[in-house]
Amino acid sequence: MGRAKEDWLEHQENLARAGGFLVKMGTLSACEAHGDLYDGDGDLEAAYKRAAYLHKRGELGFGDDLSQREVTDLLKEAYEDNAGVDVCPRCDYLLGQD
Ligand SMILES: [Zn+2]
Repeated sequence: MGRAKEDWLEHQENLARAGGFLVKMGTLSACEAHGDLYDGDGDLEAAYKRAAYLHKRGELGFGDDLSQREVTDLLKEAYEDNAGVDVCPRCDYLLGQD
């Protein structure tokens, strides 16, 4: 496996961790049926601050070699990937089948 591929995989893992963190913070919601993420009603800025605090203490678990900036970028990307929909996309699709 090439280096670029490894970096990509690591990035995907970190994005998934970032998504999970945002769900814990209430910034995103996770569908109980599908696990899909969608917009929550938490505060993204508060999530950034909380993540920064935990990362500094080595308790965030995104990877110790990430800079503070990279942690924030991951949270931003995870948020932007999933925000903008108010319901689980798969539930929405299924409900629209009737
Ligand atoms: Zn769903």
